[in-house]
Amino acid sequence: MTDTAADPRRLVPRTDAVLADPRLAAAAQRLGRNLVKRAVVAAQKRARRGEIPPDAVAGTALDALPATATGLRPVLNATGVLLHTNLGRAPLSAAAREALALAAGTCDVELDLTTGGRGRRGAAAIDALLAAVPGAGAAHLVNNGAAALALVAGTLAVGREIVVSRGELVEIGDSFRIPDLLTAAGARLREVGTTNRVHPGDYADAITDETAFVLKVHPSNFTITGFTRAVGLPELAALGVPVVADIGSGLLQPHPLLPGEPDAATALAQGATLVTASGDKLLGGPQAGLLLGSPGVGADLVQRIRRHPLARAMRVDKLTLAAFEATLRGPSPPTRVALDADAAGLRVRAEALAARLASAGVEAEAVDSASTVGGGGAPGVVLPSAAVALPERFAAALRRGEPAVLGHLENGRCLLDLRALPPEADDTIADAVLAAHRGL
Ligand SMILES: *Cc1c(COP(=O)(O)O)cnc(C)c1O
Repeated sequence: MTDTAADPRRLVPRTDAVLADPRLAAAAQRLGRNLVKRAVVAAQKRARRGEIPPDAVAGTALDALPATATGLRPVLNATGVLLHTNLGRAPLSAAAREALALAAGTCDVELDLTTGGRGRRGAAAIDALLAAVPGAGAAHLVNNGAAALALVAGTLAVGREIVVSRGELVEIGDSFRIPDLLTAAGARLREVGTTNRVHPGDYADAITDETAFVLKVHPSNFTITGFTRAVGLPELAALGVPVVADIGSGLLQPHPLLPGEPDAATALAQGATLVTASGDKLLGGPQAGLLLGSPGVGADLVQRIRRHPLARAMRVDKLTLAAFEATLRGPSPPTRVALDADAAGLRVRAEALAARLASAGVEAEAVDSASTVGGGGAPGVVLPSAAVALPERFAAALRRGEPAVLGHLENGRCLLDLRALPPEADDTIADAVLAAHRGL
């Protein structure tokens, strides 16, 4: 027979009683009652299993509550990959974050406050984009780069042909493929050339009355080297049909460190009729798809595309419009700052951080490392960087910490690469490593 009076399960407080704890009541105001109740029920279960004492239920529930009502947790990107798809690509600038907060309330996204009439949605974001690419005649924004391409194909090429090189049939990521996207939008593909080589004549031979446009896709996540040949935009532009350039990463102007990365201004100057790109890669803004048209023909096509019924299904929200405009008008976004950071400065930060950790007994050392832009662009480009090297066992502890820090493993060590992190993050990194050290 069990002694029920001594059974701790009898002493576990009731849910309502725990929820009445002022700290949990305050949390329920902020996070919602359901979320708090779930944490309480989980703590009660632990108490019934004897894992925590019955009087610790409220405190345990409180500790388990997330900082906000989202399940998303902030992660410090110490991987050395500037645009990490699993971490949400480009982090937003402070200016873009402020704009987001403003737009989160009610705002004049489609209202002209002077006249009281309807205003053109997103006009300010489009103006900012056209100011950044003066060579464009018109621009439009959609949800992402894939949407921009799908909308172009769905407007201009349903039942018609898109001429594209076999060397540019790119899988973007997570098994999504540009050729599938184009055919799903209703277009037929007319593939030309081979994986490694295509000639101007291949394109010329493929052009018929069925041709909607020639598509040039930037191979943004791989390189082909050796016996290769691609056809540039100036030659494609001479073919007499519209040329659509999917430049991928969203560089608006050439970048000196990334000579192989196409940019919107150059693509238009070289004769592209339309340019598509992403907003959250090297542009450094929120997830968005950019569509830019050359003055004249391209601008007319942008207007057609904007009025297509599917354009409404790919429309960006006010948050994106606000963050995108602020990214372009505000100071350099973090992605750009990280790209331009000089390696010597990163090394100084790594030395200081390693010295600070070593003095606290952590086995830490400053090392040279190699950063990359990531799946978002500039394949094959290595950016010299610096990192703090820790024993490998730190990796999991840092990843599970608060805030989470994601490093990368190399030769049995956990490297915390500083290129993708602003200098202000160094204190947080130090605290996170020290916390992990105490827990190991
Ligand atoms: C990233 C990329 C895309 C897809 O853009 P999303 O914004 O991810 O939808 C399309 N084309 C190229 C060349 C890319 O690099």
